[in-house]
Amino acid sequence: MRDLSNKKVLIINTGGTIGMKNTREGYAPVSGYLFGELKKIDDLNREGMPKWDFVEISPLLDSSNISAPQWNNMAKIIADSYCDYDGFVILHGTDTMAYTASALSFILHGLDKPVVLTGSQIPLCDVRSDARDNLISSVIIAGDSIVKEVCLCFGGKLLRGNRSTKTSADTLVAFDSPNYPHLAEIGIAVKYNHSALSKQNGSSLEYLPFSAVPIGVLKIFPGMQFGLFEDIITDKLSAVVLETFGAGNIPHSGDDLLPIIKKAFKAGAVVVVCSQCVAGSVTLGAYQTSTALKNAGAVSGKDMTTESAVAKLYHLFSMGYTTDKIKSLMEQDLAGELTY
Ligand code: ASP
Repeated sequence: MRDLSNKKVLIINTGGTIGMKNTREGYAPVSGYLFGELKKIDDLNREGMPKWDFVEISPLLDSSNISAPQWNNMAKIIADSYCDYDGFVILHGTDTMAYTASALSFILHGLDKPVVLTGSQIPLCDVRSDARDNLISSVIIAGDSIVKEVCLCFGGKLLRGNRSTKTSADTLVAFDSPNYPHLAEIGIAVKYNHSALSKQNGSSLEYLPFSAVPIGVLKIFPGMQFGLFEDIITDKLSAVVLETFGAGNIPHSGDDLLPIIKKAFKAGAVVVVCSQCVAGSVTLGAYQTSTALKNAGAVSGKDMTTESAVAKLYHLFSMGYTTDKIKSLMEQDLAGELTY
C-alpha cells in the first residue's frame, strides 16, 4: 500500500447498520458510539494510513429516513471543509445508499476529490461484520486522491455512485453497477479501472442543493389500471419516473396511460421512462408499445438507474429550469449517469 500518512480524510457518519446497536426494538443507530469503536480499529490508525477526523449528523438515521434535507446537509459538510481534506467517507445505511450517491453527484458539481459512500450489512461490532473491510478500503480510496467523483465502496468493489444500485438485501456483496464498469476491484491491492474514472476539467466545486420537489415513481405491471393513477400524475407531481418493461414498453390497456401523460405535460410535469431491467437501456420507439409513450411526450431515461433518474429530477427542478430544458437535459449525460 502507498504511504498515505500525509493525507487527511473526513469520515461523516449518517447512521445505518454499520454503527447500529441491537436495541429492544431491533437494530438502531446510537449517537456518539461509533467514534469510540473506530479509534479501537488498529488498521485504521496504523502508520501509512491517512489521518482521519470524524463528524456525525444529528440525529443518526436508518437510511430509509434519509432524503433531500440530509443530502444537502452531507454535501454542505463536504463543501464547507473541502479545502481541509484530501477525501471524504460517508458512512450510510445500505437501503438508500445508491439514492444518496446519485444525489450527491448532482449536488457537488465540479467535484475533484473522492467522496466514498460505504456501510455494512452486519454492524461493526457483530461477529463476521463486513464493516471493517468496507471502511478501511474506503478510507484508503478517499486518501488516494485518484478518484474524483462520488463513488460507492462495498463488498470488494468500487462503483460510480450514480450508476450503483442495491442488488441484495442479505449478501455481503450488496451493490452493483450493471450499466457501468466497476471503478476499481478491491483485492490484495486496489486495482483502479483508470479508463472508467471521471476526468475532471479543473472547474471548482459548486454546492447545488435540492429543494423539496414532488416526484413519483410508478412501476408498471401487467393488468395495471392506469386511470386510477390519473390524479397523482397530473395534479400533484412535478415529475414521474415510469419503471416500464424491457426497453421502455407499457401495456396498451385501452391506451389509458397516454392521455394521462399528455395531460401531465400540459400541467408542466415531466414523465421519464426507465426500465425494470437492471441492465440495458430504454429505447423509446423500438416497439409499438413504447412509440406511443414517446409520441405522448415522455422522455427516455436511457440506461439510468431509477435512483439516478429521481436524483437528476430533483437537481433539474431545483435549478429552476423550464420544463422543456429539463426534458432535454434528462436525456443528456450531466454527471456520468447515462451512457448515450
Ligand atoms: N436499514 C438499514 C439502513 O439502510 C440497512 C443497512 O444499513 O444495511 O440504514
